[in-house]
Amino acid sequence: MTTIRLPTAQPPGTVLGTAPAVFEGAEAYRATGGYAATTDPEELLAHLAASGLRGRGGAGFPAAVKLRSVRGGGSPVVVANGEEGEPGSAKDRWLLRARPHLVLDGLARAAAVTGAVRGFVYVSDPAAGASVRRALAEHPPPLPVEVVETDHTYVAGEETAVVRRIDGGPALPTAKPPRPFEQGVGGAPTLVSNVETLARIALTAARPDLRRAIARHTLVTLSGGPDAPVLTEVPYGVPLRALAARYGNADATGALMGGLFGGLVAADALDLPLEPGALGAAGTALGCGAIRFLAPGSCPVTTAADAAAHLAAESARQCGVCVSGTAAVGGALSGLAAGTAGPDTADHLLRWSQGLPGRGACGLLDAAAGIAGSLLRSFPGHVRSHLAAPCPVCADAAPAAGRRRLTVPVPEVAGAPRPARVPAPPPARSPAPAPSPSSSPTALPLPALKGTP
Ligand code: SF4
Repeated sequence: MTTIRLPTAQPPGTVLGTAPAVFEGAEAYRATGGYAATTDPEELLAHLAASGLRGRGGAGFPAAVKLRSVRGGGSPVVVANGEEGEPGSAKDRWLLRARPHLVLDGLARAAAVTGAVRGFVYVSDPAAGASVRRALAEHPPPLPVEVVETDHTYVAGEETAVVRRIDGGPALPTAKPPRPFEQGVGGAPTLVSNVETLARIALTAARPDLRRAIARHTLVTLSGGPDAPVLTEVPYGVPLRALAARYGNADATGALMGGLFGGLVAADALDLPLEPGALGAAGTALGCGAIRFLAPGSCPVTTAADAAAHLAAESARQCGVCVSGTAAVGGALSGLAAGTAGPDTADHLLRWSQGLPGRGACGLLDAAAGIAGSLLRSFPGHVRSHLAAPCPVCADAAPAAGRRRLTVPVPEVAGAPRPARVPAPPPARSPAPAPSPSSSPTALPLPALKGTP
């Protein structure tokens, strides 16, 4: 089986840490300065606002604004959301498997900022759950924290699905409003935060002087080249083409961006910098940082058909328009790939790409529409040629393997606890002692990241 590559010997103070392939216990985390920082919650919030840190779950909402939104309500709740449904992303599950203390430190700091009285870690990956449970036992947090498990689906990590699952229901999105910050777990104002965002909050608490650098680096999962996929940490601003070249796909002809959410971009878009604003202005998205580069000789129609098939299979089947819309987009794109599409297919795809967004309860339908629209926009010649004659590349790509083609494995982490067959009981809810105060800021150097172009 293919394994994902991890960079080695990262500098301390990065999310990847000094030993990305090794489980980091409490002692090792404390040795990096973890848990000891004394940054006051108000001060931390100010640092986060000044840093411009944005969420890393996909939507990219400013972290400080999100934290403020749940303050002042009755008994807020904080949730570390480690359920990454994007098939091309592995960062969140790796983070929980390898550096659970960094996430739990960030969760405790988010609780301090918001005044939260309860916390949850939400996972589908049993190995991630086992690592978090061990970390909770090694270093009990200053508020009760429970691990809640869910099935691994595309929509299970959507914030209203997270709340619904923690409240004992199915992990399916609900209509908005209310959003979790208004009415979340048990009706309380709830912060649902991606685990990488929490990790960056913990790093900011430890080294506020490096807040800008911490906010302007991000984990990316890169795949699609001849080599194994890679999980690494890069600064904002690096050109996509440089990333492709460095990680084994120098002649990439385009990319599938942001997991499935950023759609397809053509080769000229690879000159764009990896930066959420620039990518958004160009009509694509960084999303969760999953980028699948298109290798020379591959066909973007195959990739679009694979992505649409994945989304159609993952529809939670709650919204009629999603069931019919994802099936229609998936069917049209697979027909295009198979050489059986009718002459109206491009018109249908265009109409769906414009009419479907925003009509489902979550972003899955938007992603399907985005795949269709971005294929038409970025690869119009390919669409025309597929309507004229069957494509030999698509013919060679077994449709049944499509979902597997887009899925990357989660990196193995040495020394991590094995998941229990039967989920361990959640930790006791009695408050645990707060981390011991320290008189000086923790030194966490954050030099330029290795492994970045
Ligand atoms: S849009 Fe689709 S995936 Fe999202 S809630 Fe509705 S049916 Fe489920």
